Amino acid sequence: MTTKTGKPKLLPILSGGLDSTTMLYMGRKYFTVERAVSFNYGQRHKRELVYAARTCEKLGIQHTIIGLWSSGLEESLSSSESSLVNLDVPIPEGHYGEESMRATVVPNRNMIMFAIAGAIAIADGAQFIGAGQHSGDHFIYPDCRPPFIEAIAEALYLGNEGFGNLWRESIWTPFLYLTKADIAYEAITSGVPFEDTWSCYRGGEIHCGRCGTCVERLEAIDEATTKWWSNHPNPMTPGFAGGFQDDDTEYADPDYWREAIKRETV
Ligand SMILES: [Zn+2]
Repeated sequence: MTTKTGKPKLLPILSGGLDSTTMLYMGRKYFTVERAVSFNYGQRHKRELVYAARTCEKLGIQHTIIGLWSSGLEESLSSSESSLVNLDVPIPEGHYGEESMRATVVPNRNMIMFAIAGAIAIADGAQFIGAGQHSGDHFIYPDCRPPFIEAIAEALYLGNEGFGNLWRESIWTPFLYLTKADIAYEAITSGVPFEDTWSCYRGGEIHCGRCGTCVERLEAIDEATTKWWSNHPNPMTPGFAGGFQDDDTEYADPDYWREAIKRETV
């Protein structure tokens, strides 16, 4: 079953970060998107939810925020080893390739999100759930790896057979085998305003520029920008259709990432 536009329906899981926001912009080319879902699981960087709401408003999409604190989850997770939900554990600085980034894993986070998004997708008659995982997540986060995504899609299908419209391979993860720089490149071509996305795990007033996700973001945007300009050496060329998206995000420390990636590659 498709929608009036003839396109299948997608329910994106939108964190408000660069990956899922780009997935949403890209998804609108191939799917009908009427609603996006975000989760408040007690993350230190709740600010990302404000960015998610802003994006949905801009795109004219209904935005649903699931508050998991009301289930007691926020309180229960606050004793975990995760720096994202346990305020006593500091947010690690540096590159995602470092072991210290294990402190950003939230127990069973994606299973919880996919289970709830699955229920909403079925109620909405959506065929697909969209998610922004990419290959750079695989090292640290087991629940971002392809076998998990495949298994959860299968579980959703089996657990709801005969109800709703979910496809058997119902989870659309266009970046699963791509890099963060590939996502930043797609963001440029899809016209995602970088400053409308929030990545920083610290959740301060502006991006810190030093935590793992800030370093990853800055490195990716830099790489994508270089690639974009090498592919579009002369934007005045006849037939040139796209415009370049500058990163207008404000960073407290905009240069630390260069040092952090040097340390990782030594
Ligand atoms: Zn940060």
